[in-house]
Amino acid sequence: MKLSSVKGAVSVVKKYFFYLSSQRWNKEKIKAYQDRKLRSIVKHAAENVPYYRNLFKDINFDPDTFKGREDMYKIPLLDKQTLRTRQKEFIADNAEQYGINWDSTSGSTGTPLHLIIDDATKAHKLACVIRSYQWAGYTPWKKTFSIQSYTFEDPQAISKHFSYVNLWRFNSKLLKKETALEVVKMINEIKPKVFIGYPFSMLMLSRFAREEGIGIHPFESIVTAGETLSEGRRKLLQEAYQCKVFDFFSLHEDVAVVTECQHNTKHFCEDFAYNEVVDQNGDLVSAGGTGELVGTGFYNFAMPLIRYRLGDTVILNKDTEGICKCGREFSSVKEIVGRQNDYLETPDGRFLGNVLEHAVDNAKGVVFSQCVQDAVDHIYINMIVDETFGPDSTRQFEKGLRGRLGDEIKIDFKTVEHLEKSKSGKTPFIMSKIGHEYV
Ligand SMILES: [Zn+2]
Repeated sequence: MKLSSVKGAVSVVKKYFFYLSSQRWNKEKIKAYQDRKLRSIVKHAAENVPYYRNLFKDINFDPDTFKGREDMYKIPLLDKQTLRTRQKEFIADNAEQYGINWDSTSGSTGTPLHLIIDDATKAHKLACVIRSYQWAGYTPWKKTFSIQSYTFEDPQAISKHFSYVNLWRFNSKLLKKETALEVVKMINEIKPKVFIGYPFSMLMLSRFAREEGIGIHPFESIVTAGETLSEGRRKLLQEAYQCKVFDFFSLHEDVAVVTECQHNTKHFCEDFAYNEVVDQNGDLVSAGGTGELVGTGFYNFAMPLIRYRLGDTVILNKDTEGICKCGREFSSVKEIVGRQNDYLETPDGRFLGNVLEHAVDNAKGVVFSQCVQDAVDHIYINMIVDETFGPDSTRQFEKGLRGRLGDEIKIDFKTVEHLEKSKSGKTPFIMSKIGHEYV
């Protein structure tokens, strides 16, 4: 189902009204809803999804006695590698009836992953995202600019106007000084109210404009997505665009959406997914602690993911259950640390943030990858691979990279045992040794 079809649009509108009302639920109602949704997806997985059918048998888990949140610990955590290597087993026998839409992601670890998002989940996600933007002052049809990694029919087109939703989209992959100044010029002409996109691309725009002494028309608000937003970047964005910045977090696997409200609280959208934060042993982290985010989506019956490990680190608030001044009773998180990537510079003067994300999509057998730039005209890729890796994997990887980086840069591939660590001990997916470190 295409969301642009009449049926698709009706489905999104219905769900949008659901999300407008569910954000006012009290704790009791939220918890009851989560329990109901978890029971329903677990029961469905037990009956129709080969991976879970076998797993539940192996661990003697009885889905009929499963109550919901309090019993989640009985189901083992699911990691990306299991999903990647046993992908077919996660597809429900009756997936067809829910609508099959293939999506791909390489998330924050440079691991290629392909998965099915069914029709209902697509509509839920869009409706939930619109509500999230609304917390930041967006309303449907408000003049909006978005700068993210888009693919338009014309690959050289930097922008596209979607007049029916009053939205301009800019392709962050083509961002260099000339195109950035074009974008700034358009912003100053169109005077959009809301700016959505990658914080890195937004910062580059303001930097180029400043270098040329050009002012940028102030926005009413900014919503950052697709990258970790550090406090440093948030401050820089607020200064550059003279408005409040709202952080937004979601992922292709659709097992978590975290939205910042006007009181700077990052709320889990608990009507979209059930989230847990676990330590290295898989035990729940208590308030104030740091751990890995785990998510269970409520709606993707074609390919359910239960207790899926996102690989992103989060820091919990001291009081996760306190009621926010915004009145919403969704629990909250203090910070999503995520992955903090440096950025690349291409020989033709473009600056690329998280744009490598999909380059690895067709590189079979790549378990983790990391792109290191050691000269403006040279990068190398560190790869941890498994037995399905072959010469075609590198070819596909290079093809994905060339589409983004162009032909002028030299690319080498290395298989390694460990990825390189930065001076601060982190393992970024993109590492710059030419001075373009994460801010
Ligand atoms: Zn709030």
